[in-house]
Amino acid sequence: MPVSPTVTRFAPSPTGLLHCGHAFSALTAFRIAQKEGGRFLLRIEDIDSTRCQRRFEEALKEDLAWLGITWESPVRRQSDHLAEYKEVAEKLRARGLLYPCFCTRRDIQREIEAAGGAPHGSEGPLYPGTCRRLSSRDVEERMARGDEYALRLNLEEALRVTGSGLEWFDRHQGLQKARPELLGDTVLVRKDIGCSYHLCVVWDDALQGVNLISRGEDLFEATHLHCLLQAVLGLPCPEYVHHELLRDSSGRRLAKRDQAETLRSLRERGVSAEELHVILGRSTQ
Ligand code: GLU
Repeated sequence: MPVSPTVTRFAPSPTGLLHCGHAFSALTAFRIAQKEGGRFLLRIEDIDSTRCQRRFEEALKEDLAWLGITWESPVRRQSDHLAEYKEVAEKLRARGLLYPCFCTRRDIQREIEAAGGAPHGSEGPLYPGTCRRLSSRDVEERMARGDEYALRLNLEEALRVTGSGLEWFDRHQGLQKARPELLGDTVLVRKDIGCSYHLCVVWDDALQGVNLISRGEDLFEATHLHCLLQAVLGLPCPEYVHHELLRDSSGRRLAKRDQAETLRSLRERGVSAEELHVILGRSTQ
């Protein structure tokens, strides 16, 4: 039986210039595709119009080309497909798998304080379920009043559909039992942008035939949720590899917000792509 070739990807959000952490991540995925005779895709994850800019998309393509990375055309840009994500979300909603949530961050904080705390997930305390308990009459009233709302996953309902036996495979850590309860009733349609990272990434990876998702270990926990979403949407579950994150000399993870040195500035001060490959190479071989 023919084994399908590896299809992997690098999916940056163009919110700033790339730094060495991004180069490491992109090279890790690219080298896997090369080594396995597979395909490598670049996807622009720019649904957050409040933070993404076209000039950073151009800059990141320039940086990746400088690194010697090549990718297939056309490049999928998520902001060109917002209607498609909306349709996916509508279908989930019609199946009772999403519910409207009117809470602000402050409302959630207050509710958690009143309850004396809430379990923590990777993205902070879990949502206490306030709006899941609203009556349909309350929901209608608030909508008629024009209150803004997000759509959250009804985790209990989703688990009823999928059962609790979901699993996914990580190349470094082996077979994992999916534990979407670590993230709770996650927002899948944000109030401000009408979609979310989790929904779009799961949809796009399946649509583009990605069968190996290579990304940083900071997204390990999100994979539990992605596995559940694949199951409710009837999509295949790819393999994963969550790579280590590059850290600075004090052990802090490199981040745009901390002004980690950008690839552009390394280039401008005369560092060659070959030198950078050597610096990063040990872990991406
Ligand atoms: N767009 C995400 C980021 O820049 C990456 C998502 C992923 O690889 O799944 O962090």
